[in-house]
Amino acid sequence: MKRIAILGFSLESNAFAPPCKRWDFEQRGYYRGAEITDLARKDPSPLYNGVRGFYAVMDGKYGVAGWEPVPITHASSQPAGPVEEGFFNELLAEFEEGLKAAGKLDGVYIAEHGGATATHTHDPDGEVFALVRRCVGAGVPIVATLDLHANVSDVMMDSVDIMVGYRENPHVDIYERGEEAATLLDELMTTEVTATAYRIRLPLVAPSVTQLTAPGHPYGDLIRLGQSKLDAKVMNVTVLSGFAFADTPKNGMTVIVTTRNDPAHAKSLAIGLAKAGWAEHERYRTNMLPLRDAVARALAVGADEVQPSLLFADPADNPGGGGRGNTTYILRAFLEARVHGAVFAVFYDPALVKQAQAAGEGAIFRARMNTEESANYSEPLEWDARVVRLHDGEFVGRHGMAMDKNVSLGDTAILALDGITLIAITKRQQCLSTDFIEELGLDVVGARSIVVKSRGHFRAGFQHLFPPERILEVDVPGLTSPNLANFDWKGLPRPVYPLDPKAAWTPPA
Ligand SMILES: [Zn+2]
Repeated sequence: MKRIAILGFSLESNAFAPPCKRWDFEQRGYYRGAEITDLARKDPSPLYNGVRGFYAVMDGKYGVAGWEPVPITHASSQPAGPVEEGFFNELLAEFEEGLKAAGKLDGVYIAEHGGATATHTHDPDGEVFALVRRCVGAGVPIVATLDLHANVSDVMMDSVDIMVGYRENPHVDIYERGEEAATLLDELMTTEVTATAYRIRLPLVAPSVTQLTAPGHPYGDLIRLGQSKLDAKVMNVTVLSGFAFADTPKNGMTVIVTTRNDPAHAKSLAIGLAKAGWAEHERYRTNMLPLRDAVARALAVGADEVQPSLLFADPADNPGGGGRGNTTYILRAFLEARVHGAVFAVFYDPALVKQAQAAGEGAIFRARMNTEESANYSEPLEWDARVVRLHDGEFVGRHGMAMDKNVSLGDTAILALDGITLIAITKRQQCLSTDFIEELGLDVVGARSIVVKSRGHFRAGFQHLFPPERILEVDVPGLTSPNLANFDWKGLPRPVYPLDPKAAWTPPA
């Protein structure tokens, strides 16, 4: 009977955001042992979808009783700052203890994000991968799944057999990549095949909003070109756009080709794909709307019910990239301009929710935002507000990346500030879908405009109402601004495009 260890550490680190602690993992998802197996076989489930897909394939192939999952620990946080050294070392010790206690293993699945940094190292993901390899030895196959925002190190390459990256942004294929990891791991466990991989990193640090995979976007086109190369020799093609704000020397768009016993073919195919990717590098430029233009557009749709509604994104304050989810640039501008019919979904401010709870439903109070926040850009704002409704923030999503997931916003307050509705929450996260509005009893179709603090994942959960031409990215300051020139970079390899417009790349010999 195949015995497979399952573990993972999932964090995307923004070097400019406050450090990430044990609490961040406990709030989002910290699961151990048999609990992982229970949640992997539940629907809906709060567990990471890659693990659920992995179990589904193994259960399908061997039967629930025909393989032995050895679940250890899976810890995931909302994107935040670098992970604190002390907690990270405790987590590593937990992985090590679990692997040592596991006995003889046939394989390992690591459900990792790959975009983490730590307060003491830029490569904690490499430390996890190296630890797993040290514990299980050279002969046991290890397959890892990675977010396409992962930044890959040599240590990561050297430690595992196959890295399977997401291919969809928004990430609607996490479950399928877990399935793929299971299928590939099973091949390595049951055949003579050896995985041979080659990796190329380009000097291309793409702004977050340019990494969409829909048709017409250069990154999606490159991923699809890679998938067209899969055949009897090629096991996996992964193209990672990476996460700029990690600010590490391992940043840069990365192509990884994994073949069956054929290192030369892996190399030549990786070079071919990297050439195709670099040929399009000048297309990775942003096209955002100035705030004053966003205000004008919101005023216009607010005053005219016949015009189609608009969806504004604030990619500079994306909790999905380590943003705090509470900057007030757009909110203040809309309030001062008297915009009508706008819904802000969602705004992270536990202290504001407490004020609303103390006031009670129906009450009018002086809403004070960001009174307990110290991060850069999270500036205070005061405005009179009416408490429309208080909510526990719990629901099951129906759209996009929230589909069939248990969503928990924590205690939630729906506030009316003149013509604007503000959804204040107590668990920091990005708005992933219309569920984040509808499930709180608000009218999403009737809203004249909606403002989300998200870089792009919301697109999958709003596409049934908003075609791309009615989605506008607003250029305001923030921890995750796609304007990369706004930041004081310390770790990035330089030169890189588009920060350094003249960056060049020469293919390896
Ligand atoms: Zn991602």
